[in-house]
Amino acid sequence: MCGSGYPGRMTPAEARQAIEAGHADRLILTTWKRTTAIRPAIVGWEGGDVNESVLKPGKCTFMTAAGHCELHGTDSKPLECRVAPCDNSKGGAYGINMNNGVIAAIERAWRTKEGKAVVKMWREAIAGEASQ
Ligand code: SF4
Repeated sequence: MCGSGYPGRMTPAEARQAIEAGHADRLILTTWKRTTAIRPAIVGWEGGDVNESVLKPGKCTFMTAAGHCELHGTDSKPLECRVAPCDNSKGGAYGINMNNGVIAAIERAWRTKEGKAVVKMWREAIAGEASQ
């Protein structure tokens, strides 16, 4: 997940915290199945708006050179990252199957009024940065 895969999925509340902390341009808007959601970006995809199927595995933008998560200990750390078993011997990637119930719950959260409001907030933050 951290170093050689896909950054963890975050809830709308976590994404809102990340945007308010000034990280909008390090997040990405992805669409998968019926869900449009914001999550930490893979390096090189920051600020993007893509169908998740086009993404290739890569390093999370919040992973430091020392292998630490910049969001650790904050209210922005993605729920999927907080519950996933992390295997640092594989560059931080998790090698154990995730609890799909967590992912399903995150997907449902993005299909709510709050989820849509956070997507709008992120789009506005990105548009504001682009016009500066
Ligand atoms: S734990 Fe931190 S560095 Fe790793 S994928 Fe999640 S947000 Fe990125």
